[in-house]
Amino acid sequence: MKVTLDDLPLRDDLRGKTPYGAPQLDVAVRLNTNENPYPPPPELVADVTAAAAAAAADLHRYPDRDATALRADLAAYLTGATGVPLTAENVWAANGSNEVLQQIMQAFGGPGRTAVGFEPSYSMHPIIAAGTRTEWLPAPRRADFAIDVDAAAALLRSTGPDITFLTSPNNPTGQSLEPAELAVLIDAAPGIVVVDEAYAEFSDRPGAVTLLDTHGHKLIVSRTMSKAFAFAGGRLGYLAAAPAVVDALQLVRLPYHLSALTQAAARASLRHAEATLGSVALLRHERDRVVDELRSAGYDVVPSDANFALFGAFTDAPRAWQAFLDRGVLIRDVGIPERLRVTVGTPEENDAFLAVATDLATKEL
Ligand code: PMP
Repeated sequence: MKVTLDDLPLRDDLRGKTPYGAPQLDVAVRLNTNENPYPPPPELVADVTAAAAAAAADLHRYPDRDATALRADLAAYLTGATGVPLTAENVWAANGSNEVLQQIMQAFGGPGRTAVGFEPSYSMHPIIAAGTRTEWLPAPRRADFAIDVDAAAALLRSTGPDITFLTSPNNPTGQSLEPAELAVLIDAAPGIVVVDEAYAEFSDRPGAVTLLDTHGHKLIVSRTMSKAFAFAGGRLGYLAAAPAVVDALQLVRLPYHLSALTQAAARASLRHAEATLGSVALLRHERDRVVDELRSAGYDVVPSDANFALFGAFTDAPRAWQAFLDRGVLIRDVGIPERLRVTVGTPEENDAFLAVATDLATKEL
């Protein structure tokens, strides 16, 4: 007998939901999950390997439950990047920023609590809300996908969510909020405000870390090594906040959630931050080129402060997505009518994408 989901005593509120599912397809040009297209350099691979070997000798023991050394390294990186003095006490880390966000919702959301996000935005925010039984209240963006700050502040005051999500730069639209706009929204929000800065390193604007001094009683800045750091496969996300927030997350995290191998690999990778982040300038330059060339080909492109761009307009976005795939280029249909999202790749990958995009611009799609 084949058991289906319907046969299982699944929670009623999870019935009919669909899991996160960016297609993982074996295609020559993969520009669909906003990764850094450059593999780690050989010196970094060698350092990660040596660090993993050293950690392997101790695998009979549980890892450092509090990942103290890694958190100190992340704090040092953030201090260097933002000029804001931070220590390990301000930083928490988990398996990708998705796990960081889940821990935040476990601690500050949950049954009887609400979370607001301005959509379209990162699709995992409502999925994690559902998993933690936090009621998700979607709020609108303007037609050009920017946040109307005054309207958003009024909405936060009237709905009073326990958690507010601000994604800057926003996935999948690419727009950022200025620090002054973030400050207005944090002031308006009664509860915790999470600024999801997965793409911070690609942005021209100073991030929300600069607001911790003034808004630290309710601000959490979430970051990741998956994008600019080229460490998506290593699974390491982190946050910066007041030490009390870190104390709160310790109540919900699973003991030893970050394996000894993950901690060692992330620390080794961080030692090469300068080299890895060297690719960011190139990717920003390529982003501007991709946006310009898409516009020249006749597309409407949302201005991007990240390593991806949302473009259209297509009559039938799913059909256009398939047309790209049929020509060997995997991009992303994020479910926004008439639009598709492309990640910035290497110059060669971008050339391949732009050739297909230019060709398809002449077709009725
Ligand atoms: N936040 C945003 C806005 C994202 O786009 C992503 C990845 N797509 C994440 C968080 C999660 O990334 P990770 O779990 O790899 O850190």
